[in-house]
Order: sequence, then structure tokens, then C-alpha cells
Amino acid sequence: MHALVLAVLQAHGADEANAGAVAETVTRAERDRALSHGLFRVPGYVKALQSGKVKGDARPVLNAATPAVMRCDAGNAFAPMAHKTCLPPLIEAAQTFGLAGVSIQRCHHFAALWPEIETLAQAGLVGITCVSYLPWVAPHGGQVPIFGTNPFGFAWPRPGRDPIVIDMATAAMAMGEVQIAAREGQAVPLGTGLSPSGELTTDAAEIAKGVLLPFGGHKGSALALMIELLAGPMVGEAFSFEAQARDNGDGGPAQGGQFILAMSPAVFSDADWAAQTERFVAVYDGIEGARLPGAKRHAARRDPGVRAVNTPLLTEIRGLLS
Ligand code: NDP
Repeated sequence: MHALVLAVLQAHGADEANAGAVAETVTRAERDRALSHGLFRVPGYVKALQSGKVKGDARPVLNAATPAVMRCDAGNAFAPMAHKTCLPPLIEAAQTFGLAGVSIQRCHHFAALWPEIETLAQAGLVGITCVSYLPWVAPHGGQVPIFGTNPFGFAWPRPGRDPIVIDMATAAMAMGEVQIAAREGQAVPLGTGLSPSGELTTDAAEIAKGVLLPFGGHKGSALALMIELLAGPMVGEAFSFEAQARDNGDGGPAQGGQFILAMSPAVFSDADWAAQTERFVAVYDGIEGARLPGAKRHAARRDPGVRAVNTPLLTEIRGLLS
């Protein structure tokens, strides 16, 4: 998978560093059976290279605003290339100062958030990140979309074990999933979105023409708002609706920003935070029916078996080689 994605992206103008960063993210997603952000995204990555919206030879530049706050101008790279540049210095700063952050600008995020925050957790740090995306989600009580599907990621380190990783969109359901349900004539849960006339409906085809809603009513809506602010003015980038207005509509990821915060529990706490974490996990795991967020992906990762790939998708990606 890695070799195929690398070759496809290089065939469309990405250099080895940029193509390799994306190929690694795609391969890790397929390894973890996180299919919505693996090979499925490759045609979109290619469209963004073809239109010139994303620079396949970008070299993100990192500047220190203070010793603990960095600014990364991604130079219109795909996000994984920006992460290659900014995560190692972010880790070093957070381990030195107890807390460090990076604001990423001019970046194109088309992936899940867990790769970057798991990298922080593997270094013993707590990671928090968020990204905004094209405006498909109406605020609670409204019918006009202003929020992106706005994912939020949180990772907590567990030395010697898989970290706890929460990585979730604040939309009740991804637009892609609604479109698939519409194609297959399946109903979606009430609260997923509104029809073009603003009615709550379970009809996916109507929602695909209307708007999505945040999960959890006014509370999810508040989180989506927080993410617009952290991934927008906090990092010097556009809101979701502004990103859409300037996007060329090529089907690839729009330009936007990313907020990443890294914190060291070893610096914040004067107690044995790791042992305390395990006391919590022991009780949590003892609750029948409960599992930790991230556990499904980590279990998939440990499975050394073959990975199934959608044949039409694979054919489409191979077709992009020529
Ligand atoms: P899900 O609803 O599938 O999962 C959200 C979180 O809940 C995950 O951490 C998941 O862990 C956990 N979880 C799921 N089921 C359970 C359960 N039964 N018990 C405990 N925890 C559970 O994710 P979303 O559909 O909201 O988002 C999917 C992906 O899309 C994310 O990776 C997100 O970053 C990405 N995304 C990216 C965007 C972008 O612009 N780049 C835009 C929007 C979304 P687990 O993984 O173990 O199932």
C-alpha cells in the first residue's frame, strides 16, 4: 500500500518527502482498519496535486513565537508533511517546559487526527488537537451551515501500553457516511441533519441536500464553535466558511489551520500519574460493555493478518499511476 500511494503521488508531482509523509499516514490508517482516512482519500489527494492547490514540493517552515509556542507555515503541504516538521520540536519543547503548542497555517488536512496526537502520547505527552473543515454543519437551533465537521483529538500516554486516544468529529455523522446511506437507500438516526426545508429527517438523501447537525445538541454545537476558534483565529487561519469561499472545489482538502497542544503530565503532576491512570483503566475495563476510545484501532493494529481493500477503489488508484 505504501509503495502504491508513494508512486501515485509522485506521478502527480509530489516529491519523495511529501509523497512519503502522506503514504505513511494512509498506510497507518489501513493498518488500523480506519478505512475512511486510508486509501479512500488517495483520489482526493491526487486532485489537490493536479489542480496545484497543494504543493507537492512544499517545505513547511517552523518559527518560534516564544520558546514554547511555535508557528508552522505549511506552505500548502498536506498535513502529514507539516507534522514531520513540527512534531519533533514540539515534543522537545513540551518535555522541557511542561507545555508547548504549535499553530499550523496554510495546511491541507485530509486525514484522521490520531496519527499526530498518538505520536505525542508515545513520547509521554498529552496531545490535544483540532481542525476545522468545509461548512456543512448548522449550529444548534439554526438551519444554516457554518461549522465544519470539526474533529477534535485527545491522546493520553500510558507508558508501555497503547495510549488512550479520542478522535471524533463534532458532526453527528460524517457527510461521506450520509452520502453512502443515501446511495444505498438507508435511513440515518434522527438528529443527523436537516432537509433543505429545515425539517429533522431520517432520510439520508434529504440531509445530503440539506445540512448536518452537531452531535449532542447544544453541547456538541458548543464544541464545534470552540474548534472553529482554535483552528481559525487562534492559529491565524480561516473559518470553515471562509475556507470554502477561497477553495477551488477540486475535491481535495481545502486550505486550513491546525491547533496542537502538548502537555507533560510528568511536569504537571508531582505524583505517579501513570500508576494513577492504570487504576482508572482497571476499573473502567471492568465495566461490562465499556471499552476505551482508541481500543478498536489498536486491536486492529495488533492483528498481523491481511488487510482487505475495496477492489474498485484499488483499480481507481492504480489507474492514477499512468
Ligand atoms: P467515531 O464516531 O467512529 O469515533 C469517535 C471516537 O470514539 C474514537 O476515538 C473511537 O475510538 C471512539 N469510540 C467509538 N465507539 C466507541 C465505543 N463503543 N466505546 C468507546 N469509544 C468508542 O469517529 P468519527 O466518525 O467522529 O470520526 C472519524 C474520523 O474522521 C476521525 O479520525 C476524525 O479525525 C476524522 N475527521 C477528519 C476531518 C478532517 O478534516 N481531517 C473531518 C472530520 C472527521 P476507536 O477508534 O477505537 O473506535
